[in-house]
Amino acid sequence: MISVAEATKIVMKHIRAPSTLTLPLEEAHGLCLREPVVADRDFPPFDRVMMDGIAIRHQSWEGGNRSFKIMGRQMAGSLPLNLKEDDGAIEVMTGAMLPDGVDAVIRYEDFEVTDGVAMVEEITVKKGMNIHPQGTDQKSGTVLITEGKILGPAEIGVLATVGKARVKATPASLVAIVSTGDELVPVTAEPAPYQIRMSNSFTLRAALEQHRIHSNIFHLRDNKKVLTSKLDRILNTHHILILSGGVSKGKTDFVPEVLDGLGVKKLFHGVRQRPGKPFWFGITEDGKPVFALPGNPVSTALCFYKYVLPWILKSMGHQPIIGKASLAEDFSFNPDLTYFLQVKLKRDASGSLLATPCPGQGSGDLANLLEVDGFLELPEAVSNFKKGEVFDVLRMGSI
Ligand code: AMP
Ligand code: MG
Repeated sequence: MISVAEATKIVMKHIRAPSTLTLPLEEAHGLCLREPVVADRDFPPFDRVMMDGIAIRHQSWEGGNRSFKIMGRQMAGSLPLNLKEDDGAIEVMTGAMLPDGVDAVIRYEDFEVTDGVAMVEEITVKKGMNIHPQGTDQKSGTVLITEGKILGPAEIGVLATVGKARVKATPASLVAIVSTGDELVPVTAEPAPYQIRMSNSFTLRAALEQHRIHSNIFHLRDNKKVLTSKLDRILNTHHILILSGGVSKGKTDFVPEVLDGLGVKKLFHGVRQRPGKPFWFGITEDGKPVFALPGNPVSTALCFYKYVLPWILKSMGHQPIIGKASLAEDFSFNPDLTYFLQVKLKRDASGSLLATPCPGQGSGDLANLLEVDGFLELPEAVSNFKKGEVFDVLRMGSI
């Protein structure tokens, strides 16, 4: 059996080079950009009026003039008017191009209009006031977003403003989630005393959806023939396969054998960890990863957050962040395994994460996950962990 560090290394070594597609802007949110994005024109693209009011020549005001005859109205979205009279004004609206022949904008709040003449008494008029000059934010041709950036709302807005209706990005992978187990029945079923409702697929799908990754859910019986034919088809139509159940030592735990028969190359089976010791990982001939997770719900969750999610995020061009948290109290764990301790997290006064143990009743204790925020990674070969010691933490939520 290999260590957690070795398992992590093997999993992350088999990241596929990100593919690139040209996608509609509407589908690009959360994806990794695969081209630099350049300003197609100056930002702003013209001298932009910043306030509703009038535009005048500041020299006229400096020369002592305080009354400006309004000669026209310049709306946003039309070609600029031209002020010909030194002591005149043009009414201007926010977002309009600055009219020709003016260089200062005065807000409606700062003048009175009588018989079409604006009286400016109270304020000092300065050249350029309330005008956002062309190109002062960004110059045409500047790289605004570099390749590799994850596209959030700000990036999406900038893509729209430079006219990128289609954008080169790494698409999210299509994930197949396959649960196995003859004891499992659908959520809608009334289970017999020896049955339970399937839950892992729902947990996994929800966790993927937090990252806008789509998945299809399947359930297969513990039957070699069924598993072989169905998994073959599922593998052909998805980029990533996540299985739950059927990888331990039970007499119907056929998953490793079936995957082997389908030509999926085993890279490891078994990790020195709790929960999730029977975790199996392999790769198809064409490089698709197969994560076969033990079926106990806490094991499934842990293996997902520890191995599957980082693989998927990295393959999409994201840089997974490893958090740190310190133990809020002493904790002991004797077996020589890495222990992923379920913890409740909160921030202390300095903003650091503090982890309170909440170990639950083992890897079948699905309801304990309701109480916790993540897993604290306690290394193997140590039994006694002291309050205040800092460890890696895998977070399930967003604390
Ligand atoms: P297995 O890994 O197949 O040996 O399953 C281990 C335990 O997890 C058994 O008690 C299963 O009933 C349970 N289990 C397996 N798959 C699921 C699932 N999809 N949802 C809920 N529990 C499951
Ligand atoms: Mg099973």
